[in-house]
Amino acid sequence: MILMKDVYKTYDNGVTALNGINVEIGQGEFVYIVGPSGAGKSSFIKLLYRELKPTRGTLYINNKDVSQIKEKDVPLLRRDMGVIFQDFRLLPKLSIYENVAFALEVIEETPRNIRKRVMEVLDLVGLKNKARFFPSELSGGEQQRVSIARAIVNRPKIVIADEPTGNLDPETSWDIMRVFEEINNSGTTILMATHSKEIVNTIKKRVIAIEDGMIVRDEHRGDYGYES
Ligand code: ADP
Repeated sequence: MILMKDVYKTYDNGVTALNGINVEIGQGEFVYIVGPSGAGKSSFIKLLYRELKPTRGTLYINNKDVSQIKEKDVPLLRRDMGVIFQDFRLLPKLSIYENVAFALEVIEETPRNIRKRVMEVLDLVGLKNKARFFPSELSGGEQQRVSIARAIVNRPKIVIADEPTGNLDPETSWDIMRVFEEINNSGTTILMATHSKEIVNTIKKRVIAIEDGMIVRDEHRGDYGYES
C-alpha cells in the first residue's frame, strides 16, 4: 500500500534530508519511525501526505504515484489518510464536536448521519461527554484524542502521526497508544514517528530506523535502539 523507491529529498538550502529510501509497508501494519533528531523522520512523513514532494524517486500509495499527483488532486489523496501532529492543531474557536465535524467529508450525508459518525469517533477516543467543550478547556492528552478523532472520522486507510506523544506525560501517552492500537486492530495502517523508547520497547511493532536520511534498520517487533 505504501511503496518508496529510491526516494531522495533535498531542500532548497541544499540539505539532503532523505538519501535513497526504499521501503514497502502493507495494509494494516503498525510502524514506528525512529532515529535521532535531524535524521529525516519528519521529511519521510511529510512525503506521505504530500506536504513535500520527493526530489527524486517514486512514492506509491494505494498504487498511485504520489509524486506525480497534481496540486488540485492532493485533497483527494489526503481523503484516504488521517494526520496527527505533536501540537494537536485543533481550531481554538470551534467546539470539540465542531473540530471533528469540520473534518468530515460531507458527501450527501444527512445531518443525522454526520452527528452519528462524529459522536461515534468521540466515543472511541473517550470524549463523548466533552463534545461541547472547547480545546482550551481540555488537557493535552484530551486534545490529542480529539485530533485522533478528527484524523479517523473519514475512515482513512492510513493514519500518520508525527511524534503524537511528544507533548504528553507518560501516562497520557499510554492512553493515546491504546487508541492507536484499537484503530490498528480495525485494519488501519499506522505510521508513527516517535522518540519514546518506552513505548517502542513495550508495544512491539515494526521499527524503521532512519539515520542521515537512510533506513539503517527495519525490524518486525524491533527495539527502539537508541539511548533517550
Ligand atoms: P527529524 O524529523 O528526524 O528530526 P527532519 O526530517 O525534520 O528530521 O530533518 C532532516 C534534515 O533536513 C535536517 O538536517 C533538517 O535541518 C533539514 N530540514 C528539515 N526541514 C527543512 C526545511 N524546510 N528546509 C531546509 N532544511 C530542512
